[in-house]
Amino acid sequence: MTNNIQNDLYRELEKTRDINQIQNYIKNVIEVRGFSKQSSQDNMLLLTEEVGELAKAIRKENTLLGVDCDKMYNYDSVESEIADVFIILNNICNCLNINLYECVMKKEKININRVWSKNK
Ligand SMILES: [Mg+2]
Repeated sequence: MTNNIQNDLYRELEKTRDINQIQNYIKNVIEVRGFSKQSSQDNMLLLTEEVGELAKAIRKENTLLGVDCDKMYNYDSVESEIADVFIILNNICNCLNINLYECVMKKEKININRVWSKNK
């Protein structure tokens, strides 16, 4: 039953590249999966975990640093971990009633007037 609902939501999502609709999809699908009662603090823990997984995936795929070969099957791809981070970030936005698109636009309005320089 919940898989049917999730498949319906996914088919709707395939029709768009609109970030507001993506954020709304994540809200709906998290509810179907039974995780909508998680607090923003719980989701912050999950986000931190996923950021760590992303770091591991980048280390595995894009650096010369060694990895534990016995655990290779545990490591997901960079793309998959980026998706996890994005999904949980959206979920935190939903928990806090924050529109991700609007807050990015507000912040970028500030950022474009900043002067970026590197330490010499
Ligand atoms: Mg992950």
